[in-house]
Amino acid sequence: MKFETKTIHGIKKEKKKELWGTTVNFASTFPVAEFGVTQEFEYSRVSAPTRNQLESLLANLEGGKYGYAFSSGMATTTSVFTIFEAGDHIILGQDIYGGTYRILNDVYSKFGVESTFVDTTDLKNIRKAIKPNTKAILIETPSNPLLDVTDIRGVVKLAKEHNLITIVDNTFMTPYLQKPLDFGVDIVIHSATKFLSGHHDLLAGVAVTNDEKLAEKIQFAQTAAGALISPFDSWLLMRSLKTLKLRVEAAQKNTEKLIEFFQKHDAVDKIYYPTLDTNKGKKIHESQATGGGAVFSFTLKDDSKVKTFFESLNVAIFAASLGGAETLVTHPSTITHAEMPEEEKEARGFTHSLIRIAVGFENIDDLIADFKQALEK
Ligand SMILES: *Cc1c(COP(=O)(O)O)cnc(C)c1O
Repeated sequence: MKFETKTIHGIKKEKKKELWGTTVNFASTFPVAEFGVTQEFEYSRVSAPTRNQLESLLANLEGGKYGYAFSSGMATTTSVFTIFEAGDHIILGQDIYGGTYRILNDVYSKFGVESTFVDTTDLKNIRKAIKPNTKAILIETPSNPLLDVTDIRGVVKLAKEHNLITIVDNTFMTPYLQKPLDFGVDIVIHSATKFLSGHHDLLAGVAVTNDEKLAEKIQFAQTAAGALISPFDSWLLMRSLKTLKLRVEAAQKNTEKLIEFFQKHDAVDKIYYPTLDTNKGKKIHESQATGGGAVFSFTLKDDSKVKTFFESLNVAIFAASLGGAETLVTHPSTITHAEMPEEEKEARGFTHSLIRIAVGFENIDDLIADFKQALEK
């Protein structure tokens, strides 16, 4: 099946009776049918019908064998990290999601898991950071908020040479645009709160792998820690996935048109997007993804006008997050990267004038008109 057909028909139907849609099963426990015989569903922290359907669909879409769904992206990351032990070392991209940074730095560090954050756009930096106790590399490509690109195939090759696990946070791309497992990545994780659910109305996360041993460990963490997605949210996410291709395409098309408009506007300085000629990773991105996605960042020439810009928006909403119907605009230096020291923000280019736009699927004329009047002010 092609991708969009899978999003609609990719749920394994157990019984021919289930002809339409998906039944939500809210049960937390299931009667024992026969004394002494284990059964598929006993207690829903361990295994639950609606969550199982969602997990098989998500695995199918990422091209993986095993999928596990959680109550948020961070619940996923936190659970996946239980595969590590005291003394293990992980290498991550320096622009990794703030919550991922926080859980490693403030929580897993207490249990003896070490981490190093490097600029993964240059593989040499990863190579240099590898130590005898390094166990894994976690990347996000493109990164947030500057949309820097990391070479997935290159990271996998390097990891294989050193026997390391590779993890890709594929939230920004979705499996419609990029399938890291196809390049030999071991685990793909997502905040399904973003594009996969697509309407800014639910928190969820997913981990997918082809590796049976890793799958067992992730499933163990899911059962042991219990950071699970609910039956209702499982159902809602399956409903959302049916339109994933339509939503991503519409938002990406709007993004391309908005960028064209921003490029011509005098108030705009730099623009950051994976497929622009100014992005040094453009070629690599195009070799591993089929589109640039629906998030871009730009800088205002006059950084004293940042507040005015945000206050002038009427259609786009000033809010964190991305991947939903509504266009969201955020300010990395005070919102998503607020806790980063000022010098580091400057050094990385997360300046006061940097603004991130997560494009939705409103009519493009309304979006352009809204940004035009805000930029004019
Ligand atoms: C939002 C996000 C997360 C965390 O997901 P939650 O669902 O908010 O817990 C992780 N990674 C990326 C890239 C994200 O954008």
